[in-house]
Amino acid sequence: MARRICLIPGDGIGPEVSEAARQVIDAARPGLEWIPCAAGAAAAQACGEVLPPATLEALESTRIALKGPVATPVGHGFASVNVELRKRFGLYAAVRPVRSLLGVRTRYEKVDLVVVRENTEGLYSGLEHEVVPGVVESLKVATRTGCERIARFAFRYARERGRRRVTVFHKANILKLSDGLFLDCARRIHAELAPEIEYEELIIDNGCMQLVRDPTRFDVLLLENLYGDVVSDLCAGLVGGLGVVPGSNLGEDCAIFEAVHGSAPDLAGQGLANPLALLMSGVLLLQYLGEDRAAARIEAAYQAVLAEGRPEELTRDIGGRAGTRAFAEAVLRRL
Ligand code: NAD
Repeated sequence: MARRICLIPGDGIGPEVSEAARQVIDAARPGLEWIPCAAGAAAAQACGEVLPPATLEALESTRIALKGPVATPVGHGFASVNVELRKRFGLYAAVRPVRSLLGVRTRYEKVDLVVVRENTEGLYSGLEHEVVPGVVESLKVATRTGCERIARFAFRYARERGRRRVTVFHKANILKLSDGLFLDCARRIHAELAPEIEYEELIIDNGCMQLVRDPTRFDVLLLENLYGDVVSDLCAGLVGGLGVVPGSNLGEDCAIFEAVHGSAPDLAGQGLANPLALLMSGVLLLQYLGEDRAAARIEAAYQAVLAEGRPEELTRDIGGRAGTRAFAEAVLRRL
């Protein structure tokens, strides 16, 4: 059956890694219909809008996308495309599986944790204003509805996947109301929904220290938006970097799959970026569609490339000397 999927290449390394990922996905699951969609700085240059109406219409109709990173200027400039997409399509849960990969050398072995990040509230919403010249205010909004929704998601996710423990990172010692509400909801949903799952709370500074000391002790991490953003990159660093960690943004009836990494301006246009994180996001997309066989074939293929560890087939971030295309071709050969 043909499936229609939006393909948002995005900015920087986005077009390179999304083309590589698409080629591998097409080889494993022929017949997908990709709808190319513009978003980000490239879209703004081409048509004056970071999220053109045609992209929104395509997403409204397909409710699913594979998305490359988009650049968001620091300081002045346009608002975040990601924040807008997550709010508009109700993508309230970001799920980032972080796993050690055989053949990718790091300080740790056997890391297997999942970051579950609330994706629509908190400081990350970017609600800011200037109160008077020289004084700005950024709002951290937490709602009971939003906190309960993500807690329910995390405990259901943990139960369905046979996970044993959910750890909440918070700063409720200082942010007594907002993080206090987040904790209150997590505790209650845990008791109601999944008392058999271990539940733990850590103040986030201590949590980060524990993560870098022994990440293998963690299972599912539940975090509000900004903490989830920061801790996701920290966790990527534990298993080989941003080139090897995928992600999904999930709502009730819509899903956008994208890597944790950004547009990597330092690598853009050079054909050097690792497409694996986006390809792994494509595997999550195939699983979401119930295409488990194609997903498993791709996983087996990239795992073989990593395990064999030939420098001419691995990108530089994971110790090789290959470019984006050479890595994708190596995966294609193992399919
Ligand atoms: P970044 O993730 O783009 O890069 C951080 C570091 O990781 C860089 O050294 C980069 O070279 C490396 N890296 C990232 N992806 C890689 C890959 N696939 N292979 C090899 N190395 C890789 O973070 P940044 O530089 O802080 O942000 C750049 C831009 O991306 C900013 O405009 C930011 O707003 C945006 N961003 C977008 C998203 C998204 O669209 N989902 C996520 C994060 C950042």
